[in-house]
Amino acid sequence: MTHFSALSLFKNALSGHKNWQEQWPEREPKAEYDVVIVGAGGHGLGCAHYLAKEHGITNVAVIDKGWLGGGNTGRNTTIIRSNYLYDESAGLYDHAVDLWENLSQDLNYNVMYSKRGVLMLAHNVHDIQSFQRHIHANRLNGVDNTWLTPEQAKEFCPPLSIDPGARYPVVGAALQRRAGTARHDAVAWGYARSASQRGVDIIQNCAVTAIRRGPDGAVEGVETAKGFIKAKKVAVSAAGNTTVVLDSAGVRMPLESFPLQALVSEPVKPIFPCVVMSNTVHAYISQSDKGELVIGSGTDQYTSYSQRGGLPLIEHTVAAICEIFPIFRRMRMMRKWGGIVDVTPDRSPIVGKLPVPGLYVNCGWGTGGFKATPGAAHVLAWTVAKDEPHPINAPFTLERFTTGRLIDEAAAAAVAH
Ligand SMILES: Cc1cc2nc3c(=O)[nH]c(=O)nc-3n(C[C@H](O)[C@H](O)[C@H](O)COP(=O)(O)OP(=O)(O)OC[C@H]3O[C@@H](n4cnc5c(N)ncnc54)[C@H](O)[C@@H]3O)c2cc1C
Repeated sequence: MTHFSALSLFKNALSGHKNWQEQWPEREPKAEYDVVIVGAGGHGLGCAHYLAKEHGITNVAVIDKGWLGGGNTGRNTTIIRSNYLYDESAGLYDHAVDLWENLSQDLNYNVMYSKRGVLMLAHNVHDIQSFQRHIHANRLNGVDNTWLTPEQAKEFCPPLSIDPGARYPVVGAALQRRAGTARHDAVAWGYARSASQRGVDIIQNCAVTAIRRGPDGAVEGVETAKGFIKAKKVAVSAAGNTTVVLDSAGVRMPLESFPLQALVSEPVKPIFPCVVMSNTVHAYISQSDKGELVIGSGTDQYTSYSQRGGLPLIEHTVAAICEIFPIFRRMRMMRKWGGIVDVTPDRSPIVGKLPVPGLYVNCGWGTGGFKATPGAAHVLAWTVAKDEPHPINAPFTLERFTTGRLIDEAAAAAVAH
């Protein structure tokens, strides 16, 4: 496989870029694997990469019912941050941010991680108290987060309106400087290329229809559109479809699936230097490298497995953006889309072993799992390889919903991202 470098770029330019090797071959499934991963999103592909790279487990298949990266990985608004409230979350999300720092080098693939800073706007006394509580908690965990006055926030993000006469005036902001964005497709492609290079089979357009268990209750393999595939270990990373896949193994998950939408404007010259989020007015926005304003909307109020949402939410989101950034009032929106997010009761993920021997899960990321991709994939790979949780994902069990040891991040996850 070609190593991407200035030299290989130069050499391939001489032949008109016609001789680049394919990034990952199209594979037919083998009869048996050591590990089958259901779902070729960033989390599933990342897990395969770390299984191969860090644990030497390469007899692995990643199976997707569609094309790789075609789920939420390729549909999200790419915001990366780790300023969640609880210690457990700080461990998980900051582990991910640490891995984002060198992910392009690790994969030899430019994931365009951009530490442009995420600004969370406070509009009332409740916001001030809540954000300052987060800032203090974050600092105790070594997670960067700083309080800004409205003037400092405007200096950091010039298009922001701090008009005191606004319906919800900006009264301060929390800034995580190390936070930012990355190119979502590149994350899926980079992990896929690296995993495939190490011997992992990526099988697209092949739905997993059921997980088969043996007479002893342990996992035996998966039924798929291309027949039965034997595997003693199966890891499910199927986001909004997790409930359906795990139901077939007799495991009922505390998840609800909702459509979540996003939209982009026509492209304009660079105007927006960071990411801005407002939980109160309910909008968030950044600018892609192509120039489009990338705007996140909310989840529909009803559960659904269709990758599209209702128009009223988009209207509400655009109204909120116009309120905080009157400068964008005459922008035209170019397209909108939706993904299916899997939401837990405490808004924290479930990452680890399930009560069925040989069955693992990484789900419940709801509206905010892109940021965690490298961290979650890394600790899931550890869990699958060793059949025990990594200390970082140990608190994120399914059992917490029966023991009551919840990790309630509803405030940190308030606006969808
Ligand atoms: C509009 C939107 C905006 C978002 N914005 C952000 C953001 O700014 N920041 C952030 O951190 N997070 C964000 N998220 C959430 C984030 O996208 C997800 O949490 C994350 O991408 C989940 O990754 P994944 O690999 O687990 O799932 P996915 O990428 O969805 O991958 C799951 C895969 O499983 C496959 N699959 C499902 N069922 C089966 C089956 N039966 N057989 C085989 N394959 C199957 C699917 O085809 C899919 O490819 C957003 C989500 C949406 C929809």
